[in-house]
Amino acid sequence: MKEEKKTFCRVCEPACGMVAVVEDGALTALKPDKDHPITKGFVCHKGIYGLDIHNDPDRLKVPLKRRADGTYEESSWDIVIPEIAEKLKNILERHGRSAIGGYRGNPMAFNTLFGPSYGALMGQLGAQKQFSSGTQDCSNKFAASGAVFGTQTLHPVPDIAHTDFLILLGENPAVSHMSFLSIADPVGELRAAEERGAKIVYINPRSIETERFAGEVVHIRPDTDVYFLAALINEFDRLGKIDRDHLTAHGRNWQALLDFEKEYSAERVEGITGISAATLTDLAQQFADAPAAAIHMSTGVNMGRQGTLAYWLVHMVSLVTGNLGRKGGNFYSAGFYTRASKAGTVRSSPEDIIEGPYGTMRAKNSPLVGLPANLMPNYIMDKREPIRAMFITGGNPVLSVGGEAQMREALASLELLVCVDIYRNASAEHAHYVLPVAGAFERPDINITGLGLQYRPSIQYSEAVVEPGFERKPEWWIFSKIAQAMGFKSMFDEDDGQKALDPEQELWARTDAMLRSRDLSMDALREQGTLVLDPTPPEDTYDHVQTEDGLIDCFPEAFASSLDRMEKIFTELNQEPGDQLKLITKRDVHMMNSWYANVEKMKRKERANNYLFMHPEDGARRQLKEGQQVRLKSKDGEVEIELKLSDDLMPGVVAVTHGWGHKHSGGMAFAQSTPGVNINALLPSGPDSFEPLSNQAHMTGIPVEVSRAG
Ligand code: SF4
Repeated sequence: MKEEKKTFCRVCEPACGMVAVVEDGALTALKPDKDHPITKGFVCHKGIYGLDIHNDPDRLKVPLKRRADGTYEESSWDIVIPEIAEKLKNILERHGRSAIGGYRGNPMAFNTLFGPSYGALMGQLGAQKQFSSGTQDCSNKFAASGAVFGTQTLHPVPDIAHTDFLILLGENPAVSHMSFLSIADPVGELRAAEERGAKIVYINPRSIETERFAGEVVHIRPDTDVYFLAALINEFDRLGKIDRDHLTAHGRNWQALLDFEKEYSAERVEGITGISAATLTDLAQQFADAPAAAIHMSTGVNMGRQGTLAYWLVHMVSLVTGNLGRKGGNFYSAGFYTRASKAGTVRSSPEDIIEGPYGTMRAKNSPLVGLPANLMPNYIMDKREPIRAMFITGGNPVLSVGGEAQMREALASLELLVCVDIYRNASAEHAHYVLPVAGAFERPDINITGLGLQYRPSIQYSEAVVEPGFERKPEWWIFSKIAQAMGFKSMFDEDDGQKALDPEQELWARTDAMLRSRDLSMDALREQGTLVLDPTPPEDTYDHVQTEDGLIDCFPEAFASSLDRMEKIFTELNQEPGDQLKLITKRDVHMMNSWYANVEKMKRKERANNYLFMHPEDGARRQLKEGQQVRLKSKDGEVEIELKLSDDLMPGVVAVTHGWGHKHSGGMAFAQSTPGVNINALLPSGPDSFEPLSNQAHMTGIPVEVSRAG
């Protein structure tokens, strides 16, 4: 029997609508859903090739258990669940709860039912040492919004359809869409805006692919955006464009902001940013004079050393010019849960920044930030209080966190490592148990990731389009079974100990309660599949601010020590040699972190490798040629990699795509045969390798040297 089922992609924020073709219970095709009311048939090849991941013969089929010689044997849930529970109990008895930790990867952000069950088990275990991929790409945004708006879940999105002037920092929508802005076809939206007369400017160290469709790039030196943004506000002030009445109505501490920006004139920062004072003044004038102007920043800035301060200043650029909460400016999009901004309430204070065991860091007062993943090896191998048991769910920290060698050594030292995944990936090569999970199309879900970030709000429910194959189980089942085996209360137990609940119904009850804030329900959602929601009026943005007095904090006290750090880094940058090369990450339209590493169609011909990209002038200066193997060296490591010359890059900037380096990934045959180079091995790890305000890792703008290999 052949049938078609509506579903959606679980790879990135827009959750594009798709139609799954199911034949005799097997998923045989994924197609764009042309009738989807929001995404309207837009799907990229990552979405379509989700089929190849679903059907990948290397996907885990049954639980695996490591033998003494390091190889794996196929096992069963009846064996592995009690064994894991027993080992956990033993470690808890001997070492207490501080000996247990967890790491969750980026796919878990696209899996609604994961969070409650994982959180429940970790809570029962008392496992407070929690790490996530969030400190590799976005924890700065939660920290900044928490400090400025009093809620970590308020992220005003740009109103592209109505704006007259748009600045986008550190993003390349044609390649990697936009983060913290869920929008299906950003290039189409940007092109339409430009055709209507809007001006679009990308601030980026390279001439990005999106420029071919709309807008223009102004080159900036890597990891200097914070100085550009401070100078932009300084220029608004100098030009008399700051609306002080508006600031008084909606903000507090704004005079301190204006005192701060005085340190960063366009002339002072031009040598650091590479953007001339004249260009910056012109941008400031156009932004301030536009009837409506919007701004947005993405991962390219997040991954620097000062992403929290940069995001604070993004909010301030919008606020001081009166564009926050204005049609065509930036606005909060509430989505299906009107209390989402309240639910994210975190009122940051200086006490949140602590002296941890490995230097200054943000205290783990927020599940959205967590401990720095860059400190995971330190916490695991801590002399006084080591982590001895660890869960890694949907993540691959060996390749995605800075410092591969330290991470491998740390994982290998654990008494118990349980990896819960669809693949036996590079990190799982160190696991004692590798547990097979149901994939995106084998579980029911809603498009939870876009909540509060959707350009056009909607909610979609997808049933499991096929039953989980082989012995695969959803994460909630696995964590609840472990909880049950340990004698904790679990989804499978009623008070009398009998299996009586429908766990999935229980899990969806939370979503049902959220939907009721908009007079909706899970029943209505299941019946209709997709519900299109009324957009939030832009002026309501201010109603979602959750500070005690309801005013936006323009100069959070919690940032004080980091402002000194900002000036210290400015001095360091000023003293760097003029020909210092800086390494950035180059996103690739055929790769999503390491997700597609085992998909042959994504790695055809030239794409079967990753490369170092360098400006031809930098190549000539070093007598390096296209196609040559070169040695790329940072203070933390070195690799050999093939060189490609590209004048897309600013001189002085080199770029590599991350998510590669699979030569030891024995569980992923195609990835292992096309390994590429793990560029994260060159990144700093350990103390001082992250931003103290947010625990965000320093992953871009890394000083490097390049020379001929051999
Ligand atoms: S844009 Fe993102 S959500 Fe849409 S199909 Fe591509 S990967 Fe999936």
